[in-house]
Amino acid sequence: MDTLDPMVRTTEVHKHFGALHVLRGVSLTVARGEVVAVLGPSGSGKSTLLRCLNHLETIERGHIEIAGKTLARADATGVARYPSESEVRRICQHTGMVFQHFNLFPHLTVLQNLIEAPMTVRRRPRAEVVPLAEALLAQVGLADKRDAWPGRLSGGQKQRVAIARALAMQPDILLFDEPTSALDPELTAEVLRTMRQLAEQRMTMLVVTHEMAFAREVAHRVVFMDQGRIVEDRPATEFFAAPRHERARAFLASLA
Ligand code: ADP
Ligand code: MG
Repeated sequence: MDTLDPMVRTTEVHKHFGALHVLRGVSLTVARGEVVAVLGPSGSGKSTLLRCLNHLETIERGHIEIAGKTLARADATGVARYPSESEVRRICQHTGMVFQHFNLFPHLTVLQNLIEAPMTVRRRPRAEVVPLAEALLAQVGLADKRDAWPGRLSGGQKQRVAIARALAMQPDILLFDEPTSALDPELTAEVLRTMRQLAEQRMTMLVVTHEMAFAREVAHRVVFMDQGRIVEDRPATEFFAAPRHERARAFLASLA
């Protein structure tokens, strides 16, 4: 891991929803090849943080760099300034996002789900995109579902298609927002297996999860959020051995 080559770097990020101050000065660095688990109670701002990295939300204050490019630049007073829409879109192509509820296009087949964005957003030719998509489906163990409709798949299969779809854009970093929270335990296992493989291939991943086994075994680092702040940011082994923050201890105890 090379901390001089961060895939994500945020400094003092602030985000409000109306009067609600949801991110209260979040500074986070994720190195290339690093797997970071984001833990914390419901409402602590985990999803919002991920959505700000992917420009599904904008921030008011602070600085965000993605793969070395500045998505939001803090001016002299700390106010976040965004570049042009086209530049924002270009920067966001470095990130892929996997959601709790898969968000597959129901009217497209599995293969079509994978090739849609590479063809329309990245303007890659179909002849180039289809073999990549087929290789990714094989990687997530779903080569035989190439022409299936999403509605016919199990939740675990849908989520693996969603991961393959994110990978089809060849992102530098994958953001996961509770990717297994909607799944039964045995379906969870197959999705976690796919994520573990990605980690072994040194994919950079920022993963909001309640799967402590995954966080413990796969994540290099744990970031624990509480009320819009990162209150712990430590190697996973250290965090699980002895969480320092009282809310983190209570959180782990509540899951045990
Ligand atoms: P987490 O993912 O940790 O559960 P969220 O980032 O989803 O937390 O939410 C943080 C806080 O922001 C919560 O109080 C939530 O209700 C609020 N919130 C999230 N999204 C919106 C929104 N689009 N509009 C208003 N409030 C929101
Ligand atoms: Mg959330």
